[in-house]
Amino acid sequence: QAKLTGKNRYHAFDAVHDHSVRGLHESLEEIARAIDHNELVLYYQPKVNMRTGQVLGAEALVRWLHPTRGLLAPAQFLPLIDDHMLAVNLGEWVIRTALVQMQEWQDLGLHLQVSVNVAARQLQQDDFVQRLGELLASVPGANPALLQMEVLETSALRDLARTALVIRSCAQLGVGFALDDFGTGYSSLSYLKHLPVQTIKIDQSFVRNMLDDADDLAILRGVISLARAFGREVLAEGVETVAHGTRLLQLGCDLAQGYGIAHPMPGPALVDWLANWQPDAAWSSDGRTAWP
Ligand code: C2E
Ligand code: MG
Ligand code: MG
Ligand code: MG
Repeated sequence: QAKLTGKNRYHAFDAVHDHSVRGLHESLEEIARAIDHNELVLYYQPKVNMRTGQVLGAEALVRWLHPTRGLLAPAQFLPLIDDHMLAVNLGEWVIRTALVQMQEWQDLGLHLQVSVNVAARQLQQDDFVQRLGELLASVPGANPALLQMEVLETSALRDLARTALVIRSCAQLGVGFALDDFGTGYSSLSYLKHLPVQTIKIDQSFVRNMLDDADDLAILRGVISLARAFGREVLAEGVETVAHGTRLLQLGCDLAQGYGIAHPMPGPALVDWLANWQPDAAWSSDGRTAWP
């Protein structure tokens, strides 16, 4: 802490300013180092079909195993690099790591779809599709058809025509797309017909209150029927309880992800989780369940 005396007083503002700027640079450098030193780790959250009990795959979610601050959530470091080239570097690390994990699972006979989140900055890169092709080629055992890119509705809409083109080009590589956090974009739903995504992921904010908020329930109902009318898969995020899952099944939404099914976990733990998963204990449409 600079003392506000003598000539230091003159530089007091600069010192504070300098400190904050340096802090940011240190953090950016720290993240860059974290990528290089393998301090980042992917957790995986299962995606299941509640009607059949089938595990479709898992979403890869990045965490930072910080040497002194412990396990950091994406919200604690991703916003910092949002508008920075580091978001692209981190994104490529995520795709490569997820592909290697997919290959390891495939070697165990587990053909799981793996979803990765793609930042707007990544999607905007002119060579996004080319780099994706190179990453796929670098992990030849991974099946491109099992890779899905999750793009926030808000990112996808920044340049609708370009996003649609990128999605089509990725489809030629075999890679699919999902629209993430659907419903939070406050945008006209008609754009959906221009975006050839397979899956719509309904934002957890609508699921959270669906049992006691009639408006959220109405939005859910609308999104589910729209998705189905367009022939898209619809998956509900943030399914925390059996009651939520049961109601979603009644509304025609079979696919789900959430703490009520499983928390995100390290890749090796997912193998154990799968071994204990009982497909015949699936949620049934009459509301009974054998799930814990
Ligand atoms: P998302 O893609 O919508 O991921 C779902 C988030 O909801 C995850 O948080 C997950 O842990 C959490 N979640 C899952 N089930 C439940 C539930 O039942 N209840 C509640 N309350 N939350 C649940 P997480 O891992 O903290 O990630 C937050 C966001 O950070 C993600 O939201 C995604 O937008 C972003 N993110 C995560 N990993 C990456 C990445 O590798 N790259 C990029 N660009 N973004 C990422
Ligand atoms: Mg996601
Ligand atoms: Mg989401
Ligand atoms: Mg989200």
